[in-house]
Amino acid sequence: MNLTVLGSGSVVSSAERATSGYLIESGPNKLLLDLGFGCFKNLQKIENPLDISAICFSHFSHPDHVADLVGFLFHRKVAVLKKMSVSNQLNLFGPAGFGEFFSNLTKAFPSFVLLPFPIKVTEIGYDKLQIFNFVVKTKPVKHSDGSAIGFRIESEGKAIMYSGDSEYCDALVDLGKEADLMVLECSSTRQKTDGHLSPEECAQIASQSNAKSLMLSHLYPETENLDLKGIVSKKFSGKIIKANDLLKVEV
Ligand SMILES: [Zn+2]
Ligand SMILES: [Zn+2]
Repeated sequence: MNLTVLGSGSVVSSAERATSGYLIESGPNKLLLDLGFGCFKNLQKIENPLDISAICFSHFSHPDHVADLVGFLFHRKVAVLKKMSVSNQLNLFGPAGFGEFFSNLTKAFPSFVLLPFPIKVTEIGYDKLQIFNFVVKTKPVKHSDGSAIGFRIESEGKAIMYSGDSEYCDALVDLGKEADLMVLECSSTRQKTDGHLSPEECAQIASQSNAKSLMLSHLYPETENLDLKGIVSKKFSGKIIKANDLLKVEV
């Protein structure tokens, strides 16, 4: 299994960092986690987006996690009209309220979102579901503005955890137990911000989870000059990775 970062930035994007998105692959199976603005462009550098048929969203209240869905859908519409090969059904997953969000999107952009191919929209209960050969486990996490979930993706005997956006909570520790790779948002760097994690809290969660490696992501521009690894290594002894767009990690 491997993970490629499509966007390592936060809602304040930069030339170097798109917002939030990840591609997880296991053999021929591909799964997207979030698709914030800038991520679809990065996806097209490494994958044919027409081969993607499942996207999971951590939350939909903030555009840095969901904004490129419209561009993704319209790209597929154009391909269908050109009679190009497209995976049959597109499966979209999100937390409670995601169905209403998608319905509102079809009203805001009808000719871009109402498409000539089947789309299945599923609101994820706080349980587990099977997507291709991925076992996807979710839990509610503590973020601002509406429902938000974190993920644990298991396949090939390995586990990747993704926090989405959240402040410290037990759910993050549970989802990350013994994970081969833990991807945590690390956006509370200047001062404590509600709904987000500081580097010290990332280290604490990774240590409590006994994760093998920790990727720090969802980075604001002001973190570029911070020694994040230095801060985190004081509390976490596993491998520490600072995310960059298009970085690919095998587990
Ligand atoms: Zn965010
Ligand atoms: Zn958010």
